[in-house]
Amino acid sequence: NLILSFESSCDETSVAVIENGDHILSNIVATQIKSHQRFGGVVPEVASRHHIEQITSCIEDALTEAQVGYDDLDAVAVTYGPGLVGALLIGVTAAKTVAFAHHLPLVPVNHMAGHIYAARFLKPIEFPAMALLVSGGHTELVYMAEPGKFEIIGETRDDAAGEAYDKIGRVLGINYPAGKEVDRLAHLGKDTFDFPRAMDQDDSFDFSFSGLKSAFLNTTHHADQIGETLSREDLAASFQQAVVDVLADKTVRALREFPVKQLILAGGVAANLGLRERLTTELEAFDQTELLLAPLKLCGDNAAMIGAAGYVFYNQQKFGDASLNADPSLEFDWLASGATV
Ligand code: ATP
Ligand code: MG
Ligand code: FE
Repeated sequence: NLILSFESSCDETSVAVIENGDHILSNIVATQIKSHQRFGGVVPEVASRHHIEQITSCIEDALTEAQVGYDDLDAVAVTYGPGLVGALLIGVTAAKTVAFAHHLPLVPVNHMAGHIYAARFLKPIEFPAMALLVSGGHTELVYMAEPGKFEIIGETRDDAAGEAYDKIGRVLGINYPAGKEVDRLAHLGKDTFDFPRAMDQDDSFDFSFSGLKSAFLNTTHHADQIGETLSREDLAASFQQAVVDVLADKTVRALREFPVKQLILAGGVAANLGLRERLTTELEAFDQTELLLAPLKLCGDNAAMIGAAGYVFYNQQKFGDASLNADPSLEFDWLASGATV
């Protein structure tokens, strides 16, 4: 089985060829980060233009690198939400065009399901499974009773973890996206600021990062006003420790209430080394639960993960048709209800 998959939900244009849902023949990722950096974040109109410019050559490169032609393909998979509507539409339109020109089934994929299936390249996913999904736009704990069923048991009530990294990174003078550099600085500093761990002890599995962000901004702003210079390393370490503490504590409690065979860490923030280390340590206490850390190179947005998820939905015959549209605020619901598109 060969799937040509598309991802264009944000600022990466990506096309991949995936064999049997678990083998990457090619995974072309054209990033636009440089174009957005001077604005300090992703500008939707700029993103759409880049996707349009890049998508055709991404398809050609993906097929060439995989050494396959359109006739070898079995299906086309595409991210249709959530994300930026204009950005999503480029991938959806390209995927539809290829699918209908070559009489291939079209498989719509939820971007967040894609993030989870990045772990599929490590080994088969065993159910029930739990995913800690941490990215630029989402922070959620997802319980999966079986393939294709996604139940959100907890989520952020305000900022996503990645968003918080990017916002405090800006104050530290770090370019968007700041997560990786804050992570690096954090490993050089100490947790000296004792920032708040919001909702850490409450009963829900929900998260909140806006208070942490405000505490961070207040601390740096106050230091500025009195002319004091704070250690960037210690600021980063203190921020990261607060984020990791909350993510890890909630995940551990979720695993106690919902015993699962695997915990999957996925999404852009899953590349965070502090978080990977902490979950590795925490999971030692769970001998029935295996930890799958999404491969570092597949934590950020890419089409390979969309192909892996697409393979699962392909086998479940969850196909889309010519009316498939981008859905910027797509949720997991239709998957949980078992409905087909
Ligand atoms: P979503 O997946 O929710 O739609 P997105 O696709 O924009 O959002 P991703 O590409 O999955 O987000 O992740 C990007 C985010 O990951 C950015 O906020 C970035 O700062 C963050 N990030 C990347 N590497 C790290 C790291 N090592 N530590 C913390 N955050 C990181
Ligand atoms: Mg991105
Ligand atoms: Fe993403």
